[in-house]
Amino acid sequence: MPAHELRCAQCDLLQNMDELHAGQGASCVRCGHHLCSVPLHPFDTPLAYALTTLILLILSCAFPLLNLHIAGVESQMTFLSSAKSLVDADFGIVANVLLSCVLLTPALFLCAVIYLSLALKWSMHWPGLRSVLRLAIRLEPWMMADVFVIGILVSLIKLAALAQIGLGLSFWAMLLFSLSLIKTVTVFDVHWFGFQLDHLEGLPAQQLRMNGAKACTVCGFFNGQQALKCERCHARLYERRPHSLAMTWALLITAMLLYLPANLYPMMITESLGERTPSTILEGVLLLWRIGSYPVATIIFVASVVVPLVKFISIVVLCIAAQSKSKKSALHYTRLYRITELIGRWSMVDVFVVVILVALIHMGKLMSVFPGVAAVSFAGVVVFTMLSALSFDVRLIWDAQSRAESESRKL
Ligand SMILES: [Zn+2]
Ligand SMILES: [Zn+2]
Repeated sequence: MPAHELRCAQCDLLQNMDELHAGQGASCVRCGHHLCSVPLHPFDTPLAYALTTLILLILSCAFPLLNLHIAGVESQMTFLSSAKSLVDADFGIVANVLLSCVLLTPALFLCAVIYLSLALKWSMHWPGLRSVLRLAIRLEPWMMADVFVIGILVSLIKLAALAQIGLGLSFWAMLLFSLSLIKTVTVFDVHWFGFQLDHLEGLPAQQLRMNGAKACTVCGFFNGQQALKCERCHARLYERRPHSLAMTWALLITAMLLYLPANLYPMMITESLGERTPSTILEGVLLLWRIGSYPVATIIFVASVVVPLVKFISIVVLCIAAQSKSKKSALHYTRLYRITELIGRWSMVDVFVVVILVALIHMGKLMSVFPGVAAVSFAGVVVFTMLSALSFDVRLIWDAQSRAESESRKL
């Protein structure tokens, strides 16, 4: 990729990027945000990974995930049967979250990567390439196959003392699918794909439009001052995301309100020999601790109680920092934002554990597990905190720092 100028999507700094060869990458000189990397085998690497991952995705739905034996009774679950048992229990909303985050978003993302790679490889002007690029970028944070795999492992440990469990073929496919998906995300470089797309469609080089340019928050391309839509990915353009703070606060407060029922109401209900035992998240953790499953108790406690609280506090700190004239380094806040973005999806682990137990343990009077109301509230907490973090425009932090600096210079 030839040398050109680029504006960082997180701190808004305009900088020169040196010429990049295959296998090389570049990060922002001020905040360290990843700017671009060129795959070792352009077009072929992302294509190969995306195709492999797509095949693994199909295999992880085709066979049983887990088998369970309790007192001579056998039960089996596939990925799709787990969604069906949620619908049967009248928890369609959780089934939607499960199908969207583990199956649908990765499938769409992979198809988008394959479509873009093939179009660029063969230099074909296929329709909607720019919209497909934008779709792939927007889907990326919502893919949770790896969280689901951790959910399976936690369920396995939870059930190990109770029953005999067998791993199905799809378990291995799901494990490989989640690892391969992570690799596909790392080789799908947004800026590099966008740059190749510009080249294919003959968009003027970026360096011609550096003066007063507006950076696109989706793909990082910087457009002319007057542009309303990004030329590269067709997303709406703005100097700073409109009403970013108001949106972030509103979504955060919604998440905080949902956090109460998520902890007060039962997450799941176990029915054994006619006796119904509801358990909240904390009761579940305490039970695991009492029976000596310390690692699982810790994972559930951290993912379900600590992570959401840490997210709430960090988003509040970020919003206050963006509104005040903080003298603290904007770099610290940017790092805090990245951590907040990174840990958010992992809170979904406990919801997935409930999904797996519900799908696996349905043996009538002997033993059955049903989802509790808190599963819906908790999925809501995760989705709303993620939306809240996504609506926050990190550049506001850097604006606050430059405001504070220019004021101290005046004094
Ligand atoms: Zn930066
Ligand atoms: Zn764009």
